[in-house]
Amino acid sequence: MKILVCVKQVPDTTEIKIDPVTNTLIRTGVPSIMNPFDAYAVEQALRLKEAAGGTVSVVSMGPPQAMSILTDALAMGADEAHLITDRRFGGSDTLATSYILSCAVRQLGPFDVILCGKQAIDGDTGQVGPEMAEHLGIAQVTYVSQLRPDGDRLEAVREHPDRQEILSVALPAVITVVKGEERPRFETIRGRLKANRQEIGILDREALPVEDEKIGLTGSPTKVKRTFTPERHAECVWVEGESAKDQAKALCQALSRAHVI
Ligand SMILES: Cc1cc2nc3c(=O)[nH]c(=O)nc-3n(C[C@H](O)[C@H](O)[C@H](O)COP(=O)(O)OP(=O)(O)OC[C@H]3O[C@@H](n4cnc5c(N)ncnc54)[C@H](O)[C@@H]3O)c2cc1C
Repeated sequence: MKILVCVKQVPDTTEIKIDPVTNTLIRTGVPSIMNPFDAYAVEQALRLKEAAGGTVSVVSMGPPQAMSILTDALAMGADEAHLITDRRFGGSDTLATSYILSCAVRQLGPFDVILCGKQAIDGDTGQVGPEMAEHLGIAQVTYVSQLRPDGDRLEAVREHPDRQEILSVALPAVITVVKGEERPRFETIRGRLKANRQEIGILDREALPVEDEKIGLTGSPTKVKRTFTPERHAECVWVEGESAKDQAKALCQALSRAHVI
């Protein structure tokens, strides 16, 4: 089974700061990590390989610094890694990003399974995986917590807020992964030493068969008009009472006045 995992480098924080002038992420001074959902996707890929054989490749689109998360994936046990990097890819929105990634899938593939995280913790759209499936014209299963080989198909456990769904999907398919019980494995010292020596393939504009009008700002129909942190005004009410019973009664009355109960 040929498996590809798309991994994105993200700031190591959930408090994303946006430059109000350029409307882009402020990355200066913030350490970067592999998007946590993508680490779960790498784990799922390695488990699939252990169960069905094959290879695990990883790919990331980003600046040269994104090499570090590719090396992390190699240290976890991935077989090969590729970085898609070119200034002409800069400014891409999710449609352009997923288009460029799908061109890389065609170039590096064919792959049986393409794994993504359910969302990136900075952009947070959750659009790239499903859009890649559309660009490639293949099946997709989102919010998957467990994957098992099922003959020439895959069995996927899909998470809903109130239930799980077990699906059988024909390959090739794009799968987006949530944080399941199968936590990303720790790298070994041997794995890290091997990863540090491994070469990472570079794919620039010349190496990828992309149409120029579909990449970068030109290929990005999304225009960011304004970014802001919503202001939240919270009012604090102290509930007092002599005893716990009085306090509970006062709390119920306060909630009732606020039309909460
Ligand atoms: C108008 C606009 C302009 C933008 N300009 C820039 C810019 O100039 N520079 C910039 O850095 N960002 C820019 N962005 C953000 C960029 O579009 C997103 O980083 C990118 O499209 C991924 O979207 P997301 O973070 O919501 O990913 P999601 O859809 O939430 O990610 C889901 C999964 O897709 C995969 N994935 C997502 N992105 C990548 C990637 N790059 N490589 C590999 N796998 C990936 C991962 O598996 C991830 O878990 C711009 C966005 C918009 C809307």
